[in-house]
Amino acid sequence: MAEFPQRVRWMQDFFGEYQRYFNFVKKVVRHEFRKSGFTRISTPVVETKELIVRSAGIGSDVVSKEMYELTDKKGRELVLKPESTPGVLRAYIENNLQEEPQPVYWYYMEPHFRYDRPQKGRYRQFHQMGGEIIGEVDPILDANMIYVGCSILDGLGLKGKYTVKLNTLGIPKEREKYILELQSFFEARRHLLDEVDQARLSTNPLRLLDSKNEDVKELLKVAPKMTDFLKKESSEFYAKVKEYLDILGVAYVEDHTLVRGLDYYSHTVWEWVDGSGRTQDSFGGGGRYDGLAKVLGHKEEIPAVGFAFGAERLIEAVMDTGVTLRNKDGIHLCFIQLGDEAKKIMLPLSIEARNRWLNSLLSLGTPSLKIQMKKANRLKARFVAIVGIMEAKKGVCQLKDMLHGTQVEVKIQDLLDRVIAEIDPNELDFYVPAKDWVIVEPIVEAEGEFAN
Ligand code: AMP
Repeated sequence: MAEFPQRVRWMQDFFGEYQRYFNFVKKVVRHEFRKSGFTRISTPVVETKELIVRSAGIGSDVVSKEMYELTDKKGRELVLKPESTPGVLRAYIENNLQEEPQPVYWYYMEPHFRYDRPQKGRYRQFHQMGGEIIGEVDPILDANMIYVGCSILDGLGLKGKYTVKLNTLGIPKEREKYILELQSFFEARRHLLDEVDQARLSTNPLRLLDSKNEDVKELLKVAPKMTDFLKKESSEFYAKVKEYLDILGVAYVEDHTLVRGLDYYSHTVWEWVDGSGRTQDSFGGGGRYDGLAKVLGHKEEIPAVGFAFGAERLIEAVMDTGVTLRNKDGIHLCFIQLGDEAKKIMLPLSIEARNRWLNSLLSLGTPSLKIQMKKANRLKARFVAIVGIMEAKKGVCQLKDMLHGTQVEVKIQDLLDRVIAEIDPNELDFYVPAKDWVIVEPIVEAEGEFAN
C-alpha cells in the first residue's frame, strides 16, 4: 500500500502547549496594537506572482529561490505569500483607503510561505505579526513603530532580552551613490572575498553589509558608510527618529551595516535581535518603504512604515524564559458514569457545568471505570465525578480531587458548588458573546424629511 501522506517538510502542526503559547503571543500583539490605534487586516494567503515579483525585486532571494508558485485553472500565476507588506499596500490602494483619514494604522497576523533552506528556526510555513502605518511621512511614525514593537516584546516578558539595531538607508538617489562607492571599495579588495560575496559584489553590493565572512566584517569597519552619503533632509529625518526614540525611552544601537533583505526600504530600517549571536537571532525588523507603491505600479508615492515579527521566534523565546501560561483549556471536571441511570443524571449536570464556566468532559462510552479514570488522568482533569449504579440511586457522586488524591461523597446538587469553590477564577473563560453586541436604536426620521 502507498505510504501514509506526511506533513509537508519544514511546516509545523500547532497544537497543545505550542498552540497555547501562540495564542498568548497573538493576544499580546493584538492588545499592544489596539492600544496604539491599529486595526486588524487580513489579506488572502494567495497573491498574484506579479505583486510579489514587483515588490521584492527579481534578483531577491524571495523571488529567485523561495516562492511557492502555483497556477490556477485559468492559467493565472499565483504565489503563496512570502510576506504581507505588498498585499497590505495593495489592499490599501485597491480599497481606496486614501480617502479615509490618513495615515491608516493596520496590523496583521498571517501565515507566510518561503521555500527557505532548511535550518533550525526557519520554516517553510511560518507566521508573522506586523504593523503598517500607511499614508503619511513623518519620522515620529517610525519612532512610534519601533516603540510599539518594543512594547510587544516587553509584554511578552522579553524585556532586556533584545536589542534594537537601527540604521538609515537614505533615499534611493543617495543610496545609488553609496552603492557605487561601496562597490569600488570592495572591487579593489575582490581577492579577499569568498565566492558568495564576489557574486553579491556584482549583483547586489549592499548585501555585502550582511556578510558572515570575518574578513569582510573587518573591512566593513573602514568601508564607506551610508550615513556619509546622506543629504541634509535625510540626515535630519534620521536625527529626528533618534530624538523621538530618546523621548520614548527606547534604547537602540546604531548599526551601519544593517540592511533589510528587500530593496524597497528607504530612510529608517531596524531590527530586533536577541543578542544570542546565533544565525537566527532576529525576532523581526522593519523599515520605511515610501517607494513601494510606485514600484508596484501606482501612479504616486504612498509613504509607509512597518515591521514584522516572526511568530515562531517569539513563541520559542517566550518558552525559553520558562514562564508557564495559565491553561484555559484545562479540564476542570470529568464526569464518569457507569450505567444508563448515571448517564441521565450526568447529562444535564454537564450542561450546567458549562453554563457555570467550567471546562468539563463527559465520558460517554461504556468502558470500565479503570479505563475512564485513566483517560481523566491523561487529560489532567482537576476533578473527577463518578456516578455508578449505587450513587445514581442515592443521588450522590464520588468526587475525586486529582491534585490532592482525595475522595469524598457529595450530593449531586452540591457537586458544582464544591468544584467551583476550588477552581482559580482566573482559569475560567467568562466570555459572553452577547456582550460584544451593540444594540443600535434605529434613527427615526422626522416626518416630511424626504419631502423633496
Ligand atoms: P523578514 O520578513 O525576512 O524580514 O523576516 C522578519 C522576521 O520573520 C525574521 O526576523 C524572523 O523572525 C521571521 N522569519 C523570516 N523567515 C522565517 C522563516 N522561514 N521561518 C521562521 N521565521 C521566519
